[in-house]
Amino acid sequence: MLSSLHRAAIIDQLAGEQFDLAVIGGGITGAGIALDAASRGLRTALVEKRDFASGTSSKSTKLIHGGLRYLKQLEIGLVREVGSERAIVHQLAPHLVRPEKMLLPLVEGGTYGRLATSMGLWVYDLLAGVSGEDRRQMLSREETLAREPLLRKDILVGGGYYAEYRTDDARLTIENIKTAVSQGALCLNYAEATGFRYDQQGKITGINCRTTEGKRQEFLLNTGCVISAAGPWVDELRREDNSLQGKHLFLTKGVHIVVPYHRFPLQQSVYFDVPDGRMVFAIPRLRSTYIGTTDTRFTDRPDRVTADRADVDYLLQAANSMFPGLDLRPADVESSWAGLRPLIHEEGKTAGELSRRDEIFESSSGLISIAGGKLTGYRKMAERAVDRAADRISRLTGERIAESRTRDIRLTGGPFDHFGDVLDYEKEVASKLTASGLPSERAAYLVSNYGRQSEKIIRTAVKQPAGDAEARLAAAEAIFTISEELALTPLDFFNRRSGRLYFDLPGISRVQEVVLDTFSSRLSWNEDERQHHADQLEKAIFTATHFAAVQP
Ligand code: FAD
Repeated sequence: MLSSLHRAAIIDQLAGEQFDLAVIGGGITGAGIALDAASRGLRTALVEKRDFASGTSSKSTKLIHGGLRYLKQLEIGLVREVGSERAIVHQLAPHLVRPEKMLLPLVEGGTYGRLATSMGLWVYDLLAGVSGEDRRQMLSREETLAREPLLRKDILVGGGYYAEYRTDDARLTIENIKTAVSQGALCLNYAEATGFRYDQQGKITGINCRTTEGKRQEFLLNTGCVISAAGPWVDELRREDNSLQGKHLFLTKGVHIVVPYHRFPLQQSVYFDVPDGRMVFAIPRLRSTYIGTTDTRFTDRPDRVTADRADVDYLLQAANSMFPGLDLRPADVESSWAGLRPLIHEEGKTAGELSRRDEIFESSSGLISIAGGKLTGYRKMAERAVDRAADRISRLTGERIAESRTRDIRLTGGPFDHFGDVLDYEKEVASKLTASGLPSERAAYLVSNYGRQSEKIIRTAVKQPAGDAEARLAAAEAIFTISEELALTPLDFFNRRSGRLYFDLPGISRVQEVVLDTFSSRLSWNEDERQHHADQLEKAIFTATHFAAVQP
Protein backbone atom coordinates (compact mmCIF):
# COMPACT_ATOMS: atom_id res chain seq x y z
CA MET A 1 0.00 0.00 0.00
CA LEU A 2 2.02 2.95 -1.23
CA SER A 3 -0.55 5.15 -2.93
CA SER A 4 -0.84 8.76 -1.80
CA LEU A 5 -4.56 8.32 -2.39
CA HIS A 6 -4.61 5.79 0.48
CA ARG A 7 -2.79 7.82 3.11
CA ALA A 8 -5.82 7.96 5.40
CA ALA A 9 -6.09 4.16 5.35
CA ILE A 10 -2.36 3.79 6.09
CA ILE A 11 -2.67 6.16 9.06
CA ASP A 12 -5.68 4.20 10.35
CA GLN A 13 -3.67 1.01 10.20
CA LEU A 14 -0.63 2.59 11.86
CA ALA A 15 -2.82 3.89 14.66
CA GLY A 16 -4.90 0.75 15.05
CA GLU A 17 -2.33 -2.01 15.41
CA GLN A 18 0.33 -3.23 17.81
CA PHE A 19 3.71 -3.43 16.02
CA ASP A 20 6.67 -5.63 16.92
CA LEU A 21 9.00 -2.89 15.69
CA ALA A 22 8.72 0.76 14.68
CA VAL A 23 11.41 2.51 12.67
CA ILE A 24 11.91 6.28 12.79
CA GLY A 25 13.47 7.69 9.60
CA GLY A 26 12.93 6.82 5.96
CA GLY A 27 16.47 7.28 4.67
CA ILE A 28 18.43 4.31 3.35
CA THR A 29 19.18 3.03 6.87
CA GLY A 30 15.54 3.06 7.99
CA ALA A 31 14.33 1.65 4.67
CA GLY A 32 16.87 -1.19 4.90
CA ILE A 33 15.81 -1.89 8.50
CA ALA A 34 12.11 -2.00 7.56
CA LEU A 35 12.88 -4.50 4.81
CA ASP A 36 15.11 -6.65 7.00
CA ALA A 37 12.60 -6.71 9.87
CA ALA A 38 9.47 -7.30 7.78
CA SER A 39 11.14 -10.12 5.86
CA ARG A 40 12.00 -11.84 9.17
CA GLY A 41 8.29 -11.86 9.98
CA LEU A 42 8.24 -8.90 12.39
CA ARG A 43 5.17 -6.64 12.17
CA THR A 44 6.99 -3.46 11.21
CA ALA A 45 6.02 0.21 10.83
CA LEU A 46 8.17 3.08 9.54
CA VAL A 47 7.54 6.82 9.82
CA GLU A 48 9.48 9.51 7.95
CA LYS A 49 8.98 13.17 8.88
CA ARG A 50 9.43 14.57 5.38
CA ASP A 51 9.76 12.60 2.17
CA PHE A 52 11.59 9.27 2.00
CA ALA A 53 15.29 9.94 1.32
CA SER A 54 14.90 13.67 1.92
CA GLY A 55 17.76 13.66 4.48
CA THR A 56 21.28 12.54 3.64
CA SER A 57 20.05 9.68 1.47
CA SER A 58 19.41 11.90 -1.55
CA LYS A 59 22.53 14.03 -1.02
CA SER A 60 25.42 11.57 -1.28
CA THR A 61 27.99 11.11 -4.06
CA LYS A 62 25.72 8.27 -5.23
CA LEU A 63 28.47 5.68 -5.28
CA ILE A 64 28.21 2.17 -3.98
CA HIS A 65 31.89 1.96 -3.24
CA GLY A 66 34.48 0.34 -1.07
CA GLY A 67 35.95 3.66 0.02
CA LEU A 68 39.57 3.69 -1.09
CA ARG A 69 40.14 6.55 1.35
CA TYR A 70 39.30 4.29 4.30
CA LEU A 71 42.06 1.92 3.28
CA LYS A 72 44.50 4.78 3.73
CA GLN A 73 43.05 5.29 7.22
CA LEU A 74 43.62 1.53 7.79
CA GLU A 75 39.90 0.85 8.34
CA ILE A 76 40.36 -2.65 6.94
CA GLY A 77 37.11 -4.06 8.42
CA LEU A 78 35.05 -1.25 6.92
CA VAL A 79 36.66 -1.62 3.48
CA ARG A 80 36.10 -5.38 3.54
CA GLU A 81 32.45 -5.06 4.53
CA VAL A 82 31.45 -2.31 2.12
CA GLY A 83 33.64 -3.84 -0.59
CA SER A 84 31.75 -7.10 -0.53
CA GLU A 85 28.41 -5.37 -0.03
CA ARG A 86 28.89 -3.55 -3.36
CA ALA A 87 28.57 -6.80 -5.26
CA ILE A 88 25.57 -7.98 -3.21
CA VAL A 89 23.62 -4.73 -3.63
CA HIS A 90 24.45 -4.76 -7.35
CA GLN A 91 22.90 -8.23 -7.65
CA LEU A 92 19.79 -7.13 -5.78
CA ALA A 93 19.13 -4.27 -8.24
CA PRO A 94 21.52 -4.28 -11.24
CA HIS A 95 19.49 -1.58 -13.02
CA LEU A 96 19.99 0.79 -10.12
CA VAL A 97 23.45 -0.15 -8.86
CA ARG A 98 25.55 -0.10 -12.02
CA PRO A 99 29.18 -1.05 -12.54
CA GLU A 100 31.28 2.04 -13.05
CA LYS A 101 35.02 2.08 -13.64
CA MET A 102 36.87 4.74 -11.68
CA LEU A 103 40.05 6.46 -12.85
CA LEU A 104 42.51 7.65 -10.22
CA PRO A 105 45.05 9.94 -11.91
CA LEU A 106 48.48 9.80 -10.31
CA VAL A 107 50.13 13.20 -10.16
CA GLU A 108 53.42 14.58 -8.89
CA GLY A 109 53.02 15.36 -5.19
CA GLY A 110 49.55 13.71 -5.11
CA THR A 111 47.88 11.73 -2.30
CA TYR A 112 48.79 8.35 -3.76
CA GLY A 113 52.15 7.36 -5.28
CA ARG A 114 52.38 4.69 -7.99
CA LEU A 115 53.53 1.86 -5.72
CA ALA A 116 51.11 2.72 -2.91
CA THR A 117 48.23 2.93 -5.41
CA SER A 118 49.11 -0.35 -7.01
CA MET A 119 49.31 -2.09 -3.60
CA GLY A 120 46.28 -0.23 -2.23
CA LEU A 121 44.04 -1.09 -5.16
CA TRP A 122 45.26 -4.68 -5.09
CA VAL A 123 44.32 -4.98 -1.38
CA TYR A 124 41.05 -3.15 -2.13
CA ASP A 125 40.14 -5.74 -4.79
CA LEU A 126 41.23 -8.58 -2.54
CA LEU A 127 39.13 -7.38 0.42
CA ALA A 128 36.12 -6.87 -1.84
CA GLY A 129 36.55 -10.19 -3.66
CA VAL A 130 36.92 -8.51 -7.07
CA SER A 131 38.02 -10.95 -9.76
CA GLY A 132 38.75 -11.31 -13.49
CA GLU A 133 38.69 -8.28 -15.75
CA ASP A 134 37.32 -6.12 -12.97
CA ARG A 135 40.64 -6.26 -11.09
CA ARG A 136 42.57 -3.02 -10.91
CA GLN A 137 44.87 -1.99 -13.72
CA MET A 138 47.80 0.36 -13.38
CA LEU A 139 48.04 2.72 -16.36
CA SER A 140 50.93 4.61 -17.92
CA ARG A 141 50.67 8.37 -18.41
CA GLU A 142 49.64 7.85 -22.06
CA GLU A 143 47.06 5.18 -21.19
CA THR A 144 45.61 7.48 -18.55
CA LEU A 145 45.32 10.34 -21.03
CA ALA A 146 43.73 8.04 -23.58
CA ARG A 147 40.99 7.23 -21.05
CA GLU A 148 40.59 10.83 -19.99
CA PRO A 149 42.05 13.44 -22.36
CA LEU A 150 40.80 16.39 -20.27
CA LEU A 151 43.25 15.69 -17.44
CA ARG A 152 46.02 18.10 -16.59
CA LYS A 153 49.13 16.92 -18.43
CA ASP A 154 52.03 18.73 -16.75
CA ILE A 155 51.95 16.82 -13.45
CA LEU A 156 50.32 13.56 -14.61
CA VAL A 157 52.49 10.45 -14.16
CA GLY A 158 49.99 7.61 -14.63
CA GLY A 159 46.74 6.24 -13.28
CA GLY A 160 44.94 3.53 -11.38
CA TYR A 161 41.80 2.06 -12.94
CA TYR A 162 39.41 0.08 -10.76
CA ALA A 163 35.85 -1.15 -10.35
CA GLU A 164 33.14 0.68 -8.39
CA TYR A 165 29.34 1.01 -8.69
CA ARG A 166 27.13 4.05 -9.25
CA THR A 167 23.56 4.42 -8.03
CA ASP A 168 20.78 6.87 -7.33
CA ASP A 169 20.63 7.03 -3.54
CA ALA A 170 17.03 8.28 -3.33
CA ARG A 171 15.75 5.63 -5.76
CA LEU A 172 17.66 2.95 -3.85
CA THR A 173 15.93 4.11 -0.67
CA ILE A 174 12.50 4.16 -2.30
CA GLU A 175 12.91 0.69 -3.83
CA ASN A 176 13.90 -0.59 -0.36
CA ILE A 177 10.75 1.00 1.08
CA LYS A 178 8.64 -0.59 -1.66
CA THR A 179 10.26 -3.98 -1.16
CA ALA A 180 9.72 -3.67 2.61
CA VAL A 181 6.03 -2.97 1.98
CA SER A 182 5.83 -5.98 -0.32
CA GLN A 183 7.15 -8.01 2.66
CA GLY A 184 4.39 -6.67 4.91
CA ALA A 185 5.83 -3.45 6.41
CA LEU A 186 3.69 -0.34 6.75
CA CYS A 187 5.60 2.81 5.75
CA LEU A 188 4.50 6.44 5.70
CA ASN A 189 6.27 9.65 4.71
CA TYR A 190 5.38 13.10 6.05
CA ALA A 191 4.75 11.54 9.47
CA GLU A 192 7.00 12.80 12.25
CA ALA A 193 7.82 11.05 15.51
CA THR A 194 7.35 13.83 18.07
CA GLY A 195 7.86 11.95 21.34
CA PHE A 196 7.69 8.62 23.13
CA ARG A 197 5.20 6.94 25.46
CA TYR A 198 6.57 4.95 28.41
CA ASP A 199 5.22 2.41 30.90
CA GLN A 200 5.73 2.73 34.65
CA GLN A 201 9.15 1.11 34.42
CA GLY A 202 10.22 3.78 31.90
CA LYS A 203 10.19 1.40 28.92
CA ILE A 204 8.94 2.67 25.57
CA THR A 205 5.42 1.53 24.67
CA GLY A 206 4.72 3.79 21.72
CA ILE A 207 5.57 6.80 19.57
CA ASN A 208 3.54 10.00 19.23
CA CYS A 209 3.33 10.92 15.56
CA ARG A 210 1.92 13.81 13.56
CA THR A 211 1.56 14.30 9.85
CA THR A 212 3.51 17.20 8.34
CA GLU A 213 1.92 17.63 4.89
CA GLY A 214 -1.69 17.74 3.74
CA LYS A 215 -4.38 17.18 6.34
CA ARG A 216 -2.79 17.52 9.83
CA GLN A 217 -3.36 14.46 12.02
CA GLU A 218 -1.87 13.06 15.21
CA PHE A 219 -1.71 9.38 16.02
CA LEU A 220 -0.06 6.94 18.41
CA LEU A 221 2.05 4.10 17.11
CA ASN A 222 1.94 1.21 19.59
CA THR A 223 5.15 -0.77 19.84
CA GLY A 224 7.52 -2.10 22.47
CA CYS A 225 10.57 -1.77 20.25
CA VAL A 226 11.83 1.31 18.39
CA ILE A 227 14.84 1.78 16.14
CA SER A 228 15.75 5.37 15.41
CA ALA A 229 17.46 5.63 12.02
CA ALA A 230 17.10 9.39 11.97
CA GLY A 231 20.56 10.12 10.50
CA PRO A 232 21.65 13.66 11.44
CA TRP A 233 18.59 13.92 13.72
CA VAL A 234 19.47 10.84 15.84
CA ASP A 235 20.68 12.96 18.78
CA GLU A 236 17.45 15.03 18.74
CA LEU A 237 15.47 11.84 19.37
CA ARG A 238 17.96 10.62 21.99
CA ARG A 239 17.49 14.00 23.73
CA GLU A 240 13.70 13.55 23.53
CA ASP A 241 14.21 10.14 25.19
CA ASN A 242 16.47 11.74 27.86
CA SER A 243 19.24 9.38 26.81
CA LEU A 244 21.74 11.65 25.05
CA GLN A 245 24.85 10.66 27.01
CA GLY A 246 28.34 9.47 26.04
CA LYS A 247 29.01 9.34 22.33
CA HIS A 248 27.24 11.86 20.15
CA LEU A 249 27.02 12.95 16.51
CA PHE A 250 29.47 15.18 14.71
CA LEU A 251 27.89 16.56 11.53
CA THR A 252 29.94 17.44 8.47
CA LYS A 253 28.57 19.09 5.35
CA GLY A 254 29.21 17.72 1.88
CA VAL A 255 28.29 19.69 -1.23
CA HIS A 256 28.03 18.61 -4.89
CA ILE A 257 27.59 20.80 -7.94
CA VAL A 258 26.21 19.83 -11.34
CA VAL A 259 27.36 21.29 -14.66
CA PRO A 260 26.04 20.45 -18.14
CA TYR A 261 27.89 17.55 -19.72
CA HIS A 262 28.97 19.65 -22.70
CA ARG A 263 30.86 21.96 -20.29
CA PHE A 264 32.61 18.99 -18.59
CA PRO A 265 32.58 16.20 -21.19
CA LEU A 266 34.27 13.52 -19.07
CA GLN A 267 34.78 10.13 -20.70
CA GLN A 268 34.36 8.45 -17.35
CA SER A 269 34.31 8.88 -13.57
CA VAL A 270 37.47 10.29 -11.99
CA TYR A 271 38.64 10.49 -8.37
CA PHE A 272 41.25 13.21 -8.29
CA ASP A 273 43.59 15.21 -6.06
CA VAL A 274 42.80 18.82 -5.24
CA PRO A 275 45.37 21.42 -4.14
CA ASP A 276 44.50 21.27 -0.39
CA GLY A 277 45.38 17.57 -0.22
CA ARG A 278 41.79 16.26 -0.32
CA MET A 279 40.26 14.18 -3.11
CA VAL A 280 37.11 14.86 -5.11
CA PHE A 281 34.94 12.89 -7.54
CA ALA A 282 33.78 14.02 -10.98
CA ILE A 283 31.05 11.75 -12.37
CA PRO A 284 29.29 11.95 -15.74
CA ARG A 285 25.56 11.15 -15.59
CA LEU A 286 23.40 11.36 -18.72
CA ARG A 287 23.25 15.06 -19.70
CA SER A 288 25.33 16.31 -16.74
CA THR A 289 28.57 15.90 -14.87
CA TYR A 290 28.61 16.29 -11.10
CA ILE A 291 31.53 17.21 -8.87
CA GLY A 292 31.91 16.63 -5.12
CA THR A 293 32.34 16.69 -2.33
CA THR A 294 33.35 19.15 0.35
CA ASP A 295 33.78 18.05 3.98
CA THR A 296 33.35 20.83 6.55
CA ARG A 297 32.08 20.90 10.13
CA PHE A 298 28.40 21.83 10.43
CA THR A 299 26.91 23.21 13.65
CA ASP A 300 23.56 24.70 12.55
CA ARG A 301 20.23 22.80 12.67
CA PRO A 302 20.19 19.76 10.30
CA ASP A 303 17.06 21.05 8.51
CA ARG A 304 18.98 24.11 7.34
CA VAL A 305 21.85 22.74 5.29
CA THR A 306 22.53 24.46 1.94
CA ALA A 307 25.47 24.94 -0.40
CA ASP A 308 27.11 28.35 -0.10
CA ARG A 309 29.34 30.34 -2.39
CA ALA A 310 32.56 29.10 -0.73
CA ASP A 311 31.52 25.47 -1.35
CA VAL A 312 30.83 26.16 -5.01
CA ASP A 313 34.07 28.11 -5.52
CA TYR A 314 36.04 25.30 -3.86
CA LEU A 315 34.60 22.62 -6.18
CA LEU A 316 35.00 24.78 -9.30
CA GLN A 317 38.61 25.48 -8.39
CA ALA A 318 39.18 21.78 -7.73
CA ALA A 319 37.85 20.82 -11.17
CA ASN A 320 39.66 23.64 -12.97
CA SER A 321 42.94 22.72 -11.35
CA MET A 322 42.87 19.07 -12.52
CA PHE A 323 41.06 19.79 -15.81
CA PRO A 324 42.58 23.18 -16.77
CA GLY A 325 41.01 23.39 -20.21
CA LEU A 326 37.51 23.63 -18.74
CA ASP A 327 37.53 27.09 -17.22
CA LEU A 328 34.34 26.28 -15.31
CA ARG A 329 32.64 29.32 -13.78
CA PRO A 330 29.80 29.85 -11.29
CA ALA A 331 27.43 30.51 -14.22
CA ASP A 332 28.04 26.93 -15.43
CA VAL A 333 26.57 25.47 -12.25
CA GLU A 334 23.12 24.17 -13.14
CA SER A 335 22.23 22.62 -9.81
CA SER A 336 23.66 21.53 -6.48
CA TRP A 337 22.89 19.68 -3.28
CA ALA A 338 24.23 19.75 0.26
CA GLY A 339 24.05 16.85 2.70
CA LEU A 340 25.16 16.05 6.23
CA ARG A 341 27.30 13.11 7.28
CA PRO A 342 26.06 11.90 10.65
CA LEU A 343 29.48 10.84 11.98
CA ILE A 344 30.32 9.75 15.52
CA HIS A 345 32.37 12.34 17.44
CA GLU A 346 35.93 11.35 18.37
CA GLU A 347 38.06 13.70 20.48
CA GLY A 348 40.83 15.50 18.58
CA LYS A 349 39.88 14.30 15.06
CA THR A 350 39.06 16.55 12.11
CA ALA A 351 36.00 16.08 9.83
CA GLY A 352 38.01 14.13 7.25
CA GLU A 353 39.65 11.87 9.86
CA LEU A 354 36.45 10.68 11.57
CA SER A 355 35.48 7.06 10.99
CA ARG A 356 32.56 6.29 8.65
CA ARG A 357 31.70 3.18 10.70
CA ASP A 358 28.18 2.83 12.07
CA GLU A 359 27.38 2.53 15.76
CA ILE A 360 24.33 1.37 17.68
CA PHE A 361 23.26 2.94 20.98
CA GLU A 362 20.57 1.43 23.22
CA SER A 363 18.99 3.48 25.98
CA SER A 364 17.53 2.20 29.25
CA SER A 365 14.06 2.90 27.86
CA GLY A 366 14.79 0.51 25.00
CA LEU A 367 15.34 3.10 22.24
CA ILE A 368 17.81 1.63 19.75
CA SER A 369 19.60 4.32 17.68
CA ILE A 370 21.84 3.63 14.71
CA ALA A 371 24.07 6.30 13.18
CA GLY A 372 27.15 6.72 11.03
CA GLY A 373 27.92 4.25 8.27
CA LYS A 374 27.61 4.49 4.51
CA LEU A 375 24.95 4.16 1.86
CA THR A 376 26.96 1.20 0.56
CA GLY A 377 26.77 -0.70 3.83
CA TYR A 378 23.05 -0.12 4.46
CA ARG A 379 22.04 -3.79 4.19
CA LYS A 380 24.55 -4.96 6.79
CA MET A 381 23.77 -2.00 9.06
CA ALA A 382 20.10 -2.93 8.87
CA GLU A 383 20.89 -6.54 9.70
CA ARG A 384 22.88 -5.50 12.79
CA ALA A 385 20.18 -3.10 14.00
CA VAL A 386 17.42 -5.69 13.55
CA ASP A 387 19.56 -8.35 15.27
CA ARG A 388 19.71 -5.99 18.25
CA ALA A 389 15.95 -5.40 18.13
CA ALA A 390 15.31 -9.14 17.71
CA ASP A 391 17.31 -9.84 20.92
CA ARG A 392 15.14 -7.35 22.74
CA ILE A 393 11.89 -8.73 21.32
CA SER A 394 12.98 -12.30 22.12
CA ARG A 395 13.77 -11.28 25.72
CA LEU A 396 10.34 -9.69 26.07
CA THR A 397 8.25 -12.36 24.33
CA GLY A 398 10.34 -15.52 24.50
CA GLU A 399 9.91 -15.86 20.71
CA ARG A 400 12.85 -16.71 18.46
CA ILE A 401 13.22 -14.29 15.55
CA ALA A 402 14.50 -15.54 12.18
CA GLU A 403 17.90 -14.53 10.78
CA SER A 404 18.25 -11.83 8.13
CA ARG A 405 17.22 -12.86 4.60
CA THR A 406 17.90 -9.63 2.68
CA ARG A 407 20.90 -11.00 0.86
CA ASP A 408 18.45 -12.88 -1.36
CA ILE A 409 15.57 -10.42 -1.64
CA ARG A 410 15.70 -8.62 -4.99
CA LEU A 411 14.48 -5.05 -4.94
CA THR A 412 11.40 -3.85 -6.79
CA GLY A 413 12.23 -2.63 -10.29
CA GLY A 414 13.80 -6.01 -11.10
CA PRO A 415 14.41 -8.81 -11.32
CA PHE A 416 17.40 -8.81 -13.63
CA ASP A 417 19.85 -11.70 -13.52
CA HIS A 418 22.83 -9.56 -14.42
CA PHE A 419 23.78 -6.21 -15.89
CA GLY A 420 23.68 -7.55 -19.46
CA ASP A 421 19.94 -8.15 -18.99
CA VAL A 422 19.53 -4.52 -17.98
CA LEU A 423 21.19 -3.32 -21.19
CA ASP A 424 18.99 -5.64 -23.29
CA TYR A 425 15.94 -4.37 -21.48
CA GLU A 426 17.00 -0.77 -22.15
CA LYS A 427 16.92 -1.56 -25.90
CA GLU A 428 13.44 -3.08 -25.55
CA VAL A 429 12.23 0.03 -23.72
CA ALA A 430 13.74 2.28 -26.43
CA SER A 431 11.78 0.35 -29.10
CA LYS A 432 8.57 0.56 -27.06
CA LEU A 433 9.04 4.30 -26.62
CA THR A 434 9.55 4.77 -30.36
CA ALA A 435 6.54 2.61 -31.18
CA SER A 436 4.43 4.69 -28.78
CA GLY A 437 5.55 8.04 -30.20
CA LEU A 438 7.55 8.79 -27.05
CA PRO A 439 11.21 9.94 -26.87
CA SER A 440 13.38 6.82 -27.20
CA GLU A 441 16.39 8.68 -25.78
CA ARG A 442 14.59 8.50 -22.42
CA ALA A 443 15.12 4.71 -22.24
CA ALA A 444 18.36 4.81 -20.22
CA TYR A 445 16.87 7.34 -17.79
CA LEU A 446 13.67 5.33 -17.32
CA VAL A 447 15.39 1.99 -16.81
CA SER A 448 18.04 3.28 -14.42
CA ASN A 449 15.33 4.98 -12.35
CA TYR A 450 12.45 2.52 -12.50
CA GLY A 451 13.84 -0.74 -13.93
CA ARG A 452 11.09 -3.02 -15.23
CA GLN A 453 8.47 -0.62 -13.87
CA SER A 454 9.26 1.52 -16.96
CA GLU A 455 6.71 -0.43 -18.97
CA LYS A 456 3.90 0.52 -16.60
CA ILE A 457 4.89 4.17 -17.08
CA ILE A 458 4.93 3.82 -20.87
CA ARG A 459 1.48 2.19 -20.83
CA THR A 460 0.14 5.15 -18.84
CA ALA A 461 1.94 7.67 -21.07
CA VAL A 462 0.21 6.25 -24.14
CA LYS A 463 -3.15 7.03 -22.53
CA GLN A 464 -2.27 10.70 -21.84
CA PRO A 465 -3.88 13.40 -23.99
CA ALA A 466 -2.00 13.97 -27.24
CA GLY A 467 0.65 16.69 -27.11
CA ASP A 468 4.29 17.14 -26.24
CA ALA A 469 5.81 13.65 -25.85
CA GLU A 470 8.07 14.71 -22.94
CA ALA A 471 5.05 16.07 -21.09
CA ARG A 472 3.05 12.85 -21.62
CA LEU A 473 5.89 10.79 -20.27
CA ALA A 474 6.39 13.08 -17.27
CA ALA A 475 2.65 12.96 -16.48
CA ALA A 476 2.76 9.16 -16.59
CA GLU A 477 5.81 9.10 -14.31
CA ALA A 478 4.07 11.45 -11.89
CA ILE A 479 0.97 9.20 -11.83
CA PHE A 480 3.16 6.16 -11.16
CA THR A 481 4.96 7.84 -8.26
CA ILE A 482 1.72 9.15 -6.73
CA SER A 483 -0.01 5.78 -6.89
CA GLU A 484 2.93 3.46 -6.18
CA GLU A 485 5.60 5.46 -4.32
CA LEU A 486 3.73 7.78 -1.94
CA ALA A 487 4.85 10.91 -3.81
CA LEU A 488 2.76 13.64 -2.19
CA THR A 489 4.20 16.82 -3.71
CA PRO A 490 5.64 17.80 -7.10
CA LEU A 491 8.96 18.30 -5.32
CA ASP A 492 8.93 14.64 -4.20
CA PHE A 493 8.61 13.82 -7.87
CA PHE A 494 11.20 16.26 -9.28
CA ASN A 495 13.72 15.55 -6.54
CA ARG A 496 13.58 12.09 -4.92
CA ARG A 497 11.58 10.10 -7.55
CA SER A 498 13.03 11.34 -10.84
CA GLY A 499 16.27 13.16 -9.90
CA ARG A 500 15.36 15.95 -12.33
CA LEU A 501 16.03 18.70 -9.77
CA TYR A 502 19.70 17.77 -9.87
CA PHE A 503 20.32 16.18 -13.25
CA ASP A 504 17.87 17.88 -15.60
CA LEU A 505 16.97 21.14 -13.93
CA PRO A 506 16.66 23.11 -17.19
CA GLY A 507 14.21 20.45 -18.46
CA ILE A 508 11.85 20.99 -15.50
CA SER A 509 10.21 24.07 -17.04
CA ARG A 510 9.05 21.97 -20.01
CA VAL A 511 7.05 19.56 -17.82
CA GLN A 512 6.41 21.62 -14.68
CA GLU A 513 2.82 22.56 -15.53
CA VAL A 514 1.74 19.07 -16.53
CA VAL A 515 3.25 17.58 -13.36
CA LEU A 516 1.58 20.23 -11.17
CA ASP A 517 -1.73 19.55 -12.95
CA THR A 518 -1.34 15.81 -12.45
CA PHE A 519 -0.71 16.15 -8.71
CA SER A 520 -3.44 18.72 -8.39
CA SER A 521 -6.10 16.62 -10.08
CA ARG A 522 -5.12 13.29 -8.48
CA LEU A 523 -4.89 14.75 -4.98
CA SER A 524 -7.91 17.10 -5.44
CA TRP A 525 -6.05 20.32 -4.59
CA ASN A 526 -7.75 23.70 -4.69
CA GLU A 527 -6.09 26.67 -6.39
CA ASP A 528 -4.31 27.81 -3.19
CA GLU A 529 -2.87 24.35 -2.61
CA ARG A 530 -1.67 24.15 -6.19
CA GLN A 531 -0.01 27.56 -5.83
CA HIS A 532 1.61 26.51 -2.54
CA HIS A 533 3.23 23.51 -4.24
CA ALA A 534 4.30 25.57 -7.26
CA ASP A 535 5.99 28.00 -4.80
CA GLN A 536 7.69 25.11 -2.95
CA LEU A 537 9.11 23.87 -6.22
CA GLU A 538 10.35 27.34 -7.18
CA LYS A 539 11.97 27.66 -3.77
CA ALA A 540 13.79 24.33 -4.17
CA ILE A 541 15.01 25.36 -7.64
CA PHE A 542 16.23 28.66 -6.18
CA THR A 543 18.11 26.86 -3.37
CA ALA A 544 19.78 24.49 -5.83
CA THR A 545 20.95 27.35 -8.05
CA HIS A 546 21.72 30.29 -5.71
CA PHE A 547 24.61 30.40 -3.28
CA ALA A 548 24.88 32.87 -0.45
CA ALA A 549 28.25 34.30 0.56
CA VAL A 550 29.24 32.91 3.97
CA GLN A 551 29.13 35.38 6.85
CA PRO A 552 32.60 35.76 8.39
P1 FAD B 1 19.19 10.01 6.38
O1 FAD B 1 19.17 9.75 4.95
O2 FAD B 1 19.52 11.41 6.80
O3 FAD B 1 17.77 9.61 6.93
C1 FAD B 1 17.30 9.98 8.20
C2 FAD B 1 15.83 10.32 8.03
O4 FAD B 1 15.22 10.43 9.30
C3 FAD B 1 15.62 11.65 7.31
O5 FAD B 1 14.94 11.43 6.10
C4 FAD B 1 14.80 12.47 8.31
O6 FAD B 1 13.83 13.30 7.70
C5 FAD B 1 14.18 11.39 9.17
N1 FAD B 1 13.81 11.85 10.51
C6 FAD B 1 14.54 12.59 11.36
N2 FAD B 1 13.87 12.83 12.48
C7 FAD B 1 12.66 12.23 12.36
C8 FAD B 1 11.51 12.15 13.19
N3 FAD B 1 11.47 12.74 14.37
N4 FAD B 1 10.44 11.45 12.74
C9 FAD B 1 10.47 10.85 11.51
N5 FAD B 1 11.54 10.92 10.69
C10 FAD B 1 12.62 11.59 11.10
N6 FAD B 1 27.83 6.77 1.28
C11 FAD B 1 28.17 5.91 0.30
O7 FAD B 1 28.13 4.70 0.49
N7 FAD B 1 28.54 6.34 -0.94
C12 FAD B 1 28.69 7.64 -1.23
O8 FAD B 1 28.99 8.00 -2.37
C13 FAD B 1 28.42 8.57 -0.20
N8 FAD B 1 28.59 9.89 -0.43
C14 FAD B 1 28.25 10.77 0.53
C15 FAD B 1 28.40 12.13 0.25
C16 FAD B 1 27.96 13.08 1.17
C17 FAD B 1 28.12 14.53 0.86
C18 FAD B 1 27.34 12.66 2.38
C19 FAD B 1 26.81 13.69 3.32
C20 FAD B 1 27.24 11.32 2.68
C21 FAD B 1 27.69 10.36 1.75
N9 FAD B 1 27.58 8.99 2.01
C22 FAD B 1 27.94 8.09 1.06
C23 FAD B 1 27.00 8.50 3.27
C24 FAD B 1 25.51 8.18 3.09
O9 FAD B 1 24.87 9.12 2.28
C25 FAD B 1 24.83 8.15 4.45
O10 FAD B 1 25.54 7.26 5.27
C26 FAD B 1 23.38 7.68 4.38
O11 FAD B 1 22.65 8.34 3.37
C27 FAD B 1 22.72 7.92 5.72
O12 FAD B 1 21.40 7.47 5.64
P2 FAD B 1 20.45 7.49 6.90
O13 FAD B 1 19.22 6.80 6.51
O14 FAD B 1 21.17 6.99 8.09
O15 FAD B 1 20.19 9.05 7.16
